[in-house]
Amino acid sequence: MERLLNFINGELVPARSARWLDVFAPATGTAHAHLADSDEHDVEAAVQAAEKAFPAWNALGREGRSAAMLRLADLIEEDMDGFVADESKDNGKPLALARRVDIPRAVANLRFFATAILHFSSEAHLMDDVAVNYTDRQPIGVVGCISPWNLPLYLFTWKIAPALAAGNCVVAKPSEVTPLTAYRLSTLCNAAGIPPGVLNIVHGLGPKVGAAITAHPKIAAISFTGGTRTGAEIARVAAPMFKKLSLELGGKNPVLVFADCDFDLMVKTTVRSSFTNQGQICLCGSRILVERSILERFRTAFVGQVRLLKVGDPSDPDQDMGALVSKDHLEKVLSYVELAKSEGGRILTGGEQLHLAGELKNGWYMAPTVIEGLGPECRTNQEEIFGPVVTIQPFDAEEDALDLANATPFGLASVVWTTDLQRSQRVARALHAGIVWINCWMLRDLRTPFGGVKNSGVGREGGVEALKFFTEAKNVCIKL
Ligand code: NDP
Repeated sequence: MERLLNFINGELVPARSARWLDVFAPATGTAHAHLADSDEHDVEAAVQAAEKAFPAWNALGREGRSAAMLRLADLIEEDMDGFVADESKDNGKPLALARRVDIPRAVANLRFFATAILHFSSEAHLMDDVAVNYTDRQPIGVVGCISPWNLPLYLFTWKIAPALAAGNCVVAKPSEVTPLTAYRLSTLCNAAGIPPGVLNIVHGLGPKVGAAITAHPKIAAISFTGGTRTGAEIARVAAPMFKKLSLELGGKNPVLVFADCDFDLMVKTTVRSSFTNQGQICLCGSRILVERSILERFRTAFVGQVRLLKVGDPSDPDQDMGALVSKDHLEKVLSYVELAKSEGGRILTGGEQLHLAGELKNGWYMAPTVIEGLGPECRTNQEEIFGPVVTIQPFDAEEDALDLANATPFGLASVVWTTDLQRSQRVARALHAGIVWINCWMLRDLRTPFGGVKNSGVGREGGVEALKFFTEAKNVCIKL
């Protein structure tokens, strides 16, 4: 079986403990690789390498760093088939989705920040004839990037790209559940001309490697995407050390469907926003709120289309959905279906594990699931499920829709379906969310601020926000 090594100081090395973790293919439920089971000693080696590399990487200047990052993007693109196959194998997502979204977006992340840094300017504040202030934005030094399993390379590069472009050296930890594409990327760094120690990838478990990155006194900033509970733990450790923190956490995103919407487009898009990547995207809409006058029409059309979704072999282009990422996660999602039933929910479709044939018989598949009959206060409508499960709740007036939409501790994304322009603006302003899509979903411009409110996180990533996060602003005042 392939051995996935750490990448420290430009070298592929095993964990110092010489221990290994199994990595599983969700499509078949079988182990397909061994992963370095690292600990704080490997993190320490990575931090030392990053510290040593920092002055030269910073001195390379924007253009030098940009050129190396653009070469890395090119090398990933040249190996598109390999990356796509690895992402699908490791995560269980359809190959076609990895080809359309994950890997192109990883390439785009690197190119976006490699070029954004060339245009990154800073402010000047003139005090009439008295003085001029300018803001000097300098890289932080060594930063930590911790990413989850749902969009593995996409979110990994979303963090390391702005960090590197801004001149920092990175100690990164991909999720141990889906480490394959970050490993593949590490094998290209030397050829791209990224100097040793600039990007270090330490594989392993969150409570060991992630916790060591969080607690390391020389890592001055942490960018984390993952669950709210893990985010709280990272904040608990990092806050007293006064680290900069960017936390992109969970969601329980509402989809508000008004009777005046473009019905066909709304149904088609809502099927996508519910079940793309088996519902394992932090931006998926999981609570569908429907104006009562079209509830029946919506239920019939939506459930009808959901029943047509094909769940199966991720490598088969005819399938709409692949496998859930792990056995534990499948069991967690199924337990929420049981919870929904015990809370009085009606399963309109799905609700069960799917057992496929042949090689796929031990894979972690689940039918797309739609639940109705539950109020806003029940756990099914309060807690993040992060799988192919959505609920439908009716509303009468716009204010009721907003009350329902805002009735959770989360505030990441929301979707509004209406053709009333005034209403769309009103509702967008009143929603507790960092992102509002009107009559669309997952339309992303990498320049826009990205992040959530309430328990969905702290800080914004994307565009200039990310470059600001990965630099420290120093005001320099010159008396005239
Ligand atoms: P987790 O919080 O379990 O893990 C995220 C990362 O943190 C993993 O690399 C994990 O390692 C690591 N980790 C775990 N424990 C610690 C710790 N004590 N200290 C430091 N790091 C740790 O999230 P998942 O991987 O399960 O990802 C799913 C979650 O991510 C969902 O809640 C989803 O909503 C959220 N998410 C948010 C997004 C956003 O932009 N707001 C986007 C995408 C996902 P390990 O894998 O070894 O446990």
